Amino acid sequence: MSIRDHFPYFQQSTGIYADSAATTHKTQAVIERTVEFLTRDYATVHRSAYRAGNNATNKFEATRQKVAAFIGSPSANQIIFTKGATESLNVLATTLGNSELLSGSEILVCGSEHHANLLPWQQLAEKRGLTLKIMPINSAGQLEVERALAMVTPATAIVAIAQVSNALGNEYPIKRFIDAAHAHKALSVIDGTQAVAHMPVDMRELACDFYVFSAHKMYGPTGVGVLYGKAELLDALPPYQLGGEMVAQATFSRASWQSKPLKFEAGTPNIAGVVAFAAAVDFLAKHLKTIQEHEKTLAVNLYRGLKAIEGLRMLGDFGQGISSIPLVSFILDSVHHHDVALLMDKASVAVRSGHHCAMPLMDVLQVSGTTRISLAAYNTVEEVEAIVDALKKALVMEA
Ligand code: PLP
Repeated sequence: MSIRDHFPYFQQSTGIYADSAATTHKTQAVIERTVEFLTRDYATVHRSAYRAGNNATNKFEATRQKVAAFIGSPSANQIIFTKGATESLNVLATTLGNSELLSGSEILVCGSEHHANLLPWQQLAEKRGLTLKIMPINSAGQLEVERALAMVTPATAIVAIAQVSNALGNEYPIKRFIDAAHAHKALSVIDGTQAVAHMPVDMRELACDFYVFSAHKMYGPTGVGVLYGKAELLDALPPYQLGGEMVAQATFSRASWQSKPLKFEAGTPNIAGVVAFAAAVDFLAKHLKTIQEHEKTLAVNLYRGLKAIEGLRMLGDFGQGISSIPLVSFILDSVHHHDVALLMDKASVAVRSGHHCAMPLMDVLQVSGTTRISLAAYNTVEEVEAIVDALKKALVMEA
């Protein structure tokens, strides 16, 4: 069975899907697990004495164990389920802001971050009277790594950076940023949303303080995210929301909290989503090496194909031919990015155009937006050729 055969969407659709950085299609196993759970096993988690409730809790907690093993977390109770990477980062910025954990007066954020890894820090800086500093991205869309590292100083409280940029496809040397942060007693926050489905990650090796991602970008369901944190930091953080699930004892005058991870999981979670997420993690754990090699081939072919198109400028590390992530952002001299996406759609190729939730980056690059092609495990080399052909034809039609 080929990797693509795991995805029933491609048995129905004749078009080419090249927007996987936005969201990925689901494996048959993820779909089946969702239907099976809702049909046969549905019950709430963590609070029932009856068998179905216990069964649902066991399945829910089994996903936590799988996620922990998949990212090399020392313990499953360091895996917090959220609605998505956005919520994970908001949980973090809010709870850090309400904690005693911040020492230093500056928050350092990479200049290509998704709004989800920028705006919560902007708010936190405002609330706590800290200075938000931005690591420099040059006009070609590349991070000035040495200059950015030199910005980590004893004044730094937090270093927040993506492992892979959703807007540029750049893979950043996050280990260097994590080590620099720790050398200055700052906290390191890694947005792994665009990385976890493309490369192995290991929390023990990275030793970052926090790491976040979303299930729906790794062939899993929407509405499920992960916040990983170091045990002692999660212990020291206050809860995010208050209510059911997260409470240990409550009277009319006071309450105490569960310990992690439930302390951060107030309310009824996305039970079916978390249960089905296990199938996506199984899939990735089994096939990641093959996927990584395949995606490298896709990236090389995509680079070659696009490089031959006159008037097309690829941004970031991909444009320099040094990224093996099959995600490219480009601009054309003659055609607006939205028009490119519309013309590609006429050829049944789904690509993204716009600011990719990174408006300040677009200002730095002095563009209103880019066209983004983002591929995944299920795309083929033939599709890459077809994408490049469609783009060439579209440009001829537009000329
Ligand atoms: N971080 C990055 C790098 C992303 O690409 C995205 C989504 O595009 C997010 C965070 C937010 O993820 P979600 O919308 O699943 O919360």
